[in-house]
Amino acid sequence: CGVFGVVGVADAANFVALGLHALQHRGQEAGGIVAHDPEDGFNSARRFGYVRDNFTSQSLMKTLPGPLAIGHVRYSTAGSKGAAIRDVQPFFGEFSMGGAAIAHNGNITNAEALRKELIERGSIFQSSSDSECIIHLMARSLQRNIPERMEDALRRVEGAFSVVAMTRTKLIGVRDPLGVRPLVLGKVGDGWALSSETCALDIIGAEFVREIAPGEMVVITAEGGVESHFPFRQQASKFCIFEHVYFSRPDSIIGGRSVYETRRQIGVELAREAPVEADLVCPVPDSGTPAAIGFAHESGIPFGLGITRNQYMGRTFIEPTEQIRNMGVRLKLNVNRALIKDKRVILVDDSVVRGTTSRKIKEMILDAGAAEVHFRIASPPTAWPCFYGVDTPQREKLLAATMSEEEMRKHLSVDSLKFITLDGLYRAVGEADGRSKSCPQYCDACFSGEYPVVPSDMIEKGFQL
Ligand code: SF4
Ligand code: MG
Repeated sequence: CGVFGVVGVADAANFVALGLHALQHRGQEAGGIVAHDPEDGFNSARRFGYVRDNFTSQSLMKTLPGPLAIGHVRYSTAGSKGAAIRDVQPFFGEFSMGGAAIAHNGNITNAEALRKELIERGSIFQSSSDSECIIHLMARSLQRNIPERMEDALRRVEGAFSVVAMTRTKLIGVRDPLGVRPLVLGKVGDGWALSSETCALDIIGAEFVREIAPGEMVVITAEGGVESHFPFRQQASKFCIFEHVYFSRPDSIIGGRSVYETRRQIGVELAREAPVEADLVCPVPDSGTPAAIGFAHESGIPFGLGITRNQYMGRTFIEPTEQIRNMGVRLKLNVNRALIKDKRVILVDDSVVRGTTSRKIKEMILDAGAAEVHFRIASPPTAWPCFYGVDTPQREKLLAATMSEEEMRKHLSVDSLKFITLDGLYRAVGEADGRSKSCPQYCDACFSGEYPVVPSDMIEKGFQL
């Protein structure tokens, strides 16, 4: 998901709509905005579909006045899949000291246990979303102000959370102690912005100030500026390495590094680790493009756009059902026959999850007359599900959970298949010595099976580490 918030500018909701539009790649099912105006109070709008199709209507935006607003774009990883407007964030709560709204990116790994406990104690849940726990925990806190209630609530929550929240006067941002999901601070005119990624600061002309640190809470007012707290026990950070590979936008800056440059470097590492003789390096667009550029540069093999992406389709992976995802490949990608015919082609993609995309693409490339097909994948084999906010399927559906690299190659029936190693990936994100065995610098659980936070709800349901 993507989260965004602004305080201290006129008609903040318009800025939030723009920010959410720039974060649409993080969630395309639905979006929502809550705004507060001193005269009009809190107002909200939650809609299915793209930001541009909903939050551009002047009649809707007029209902969201005020200098303070937050928003969310949704990609369902927890709670019900597909259509339920009650699951669309931000969530709102009314407390004795006033209202508050929250927007959450990540996944709470003890949400089911918390929900059960809260319901037994009288909380009335409105949605099936894990994020709603935060509001109910806040309601039960005895603290006198909302930021402190949030601290209380979030100390009970396990897993990944980057939260943007608001009261009548304050914009609040928090990252979980491991900092699994991103969150950044920007300055916009006399006001401030919080965003999942820097690319959404650019669109509103905000200046990137800094990242919110893992475990940090910032409380921001238009007049008072940014107050910083560290309410959690300090731990070694575990940022999601897959944000670098796929999830974030290539024009964002993460940890002081350009995401594009990291992806290009992954391609360079791949070309060193798994060279192959061929005539053409071809990306699977868009997610494989920067790595293919790096691969072509390092190998000296010409780069070409052998596959064209229909720009009117969204991200296939984020489609919630398998059927739509299956269809999606052909709706979204087509082969440029003139370029592919009789060539030995290296296809570079970011990841192989179920193998659906790779299989379809291989067929399309062979149909177009390619002489050989070699896959090079910009992440290690995805062998474990993510419980921290990326919707990987159950373990059984992950190709790499049950097959070796050679078995996957046969399954996809390609001439060769190679994944970047974990160490190669760490080098590409700037860790010159690779992955630390004693304390890995990132979360890489979907590749390594080493989960930095015990996924307790899943273990309760029988998941085996
Ligand atoms: Fe990211 Fe993978 Fe960790 Fe999930 S399991 S947070 S996708 S690195
Ligand atoms: Mg892709």
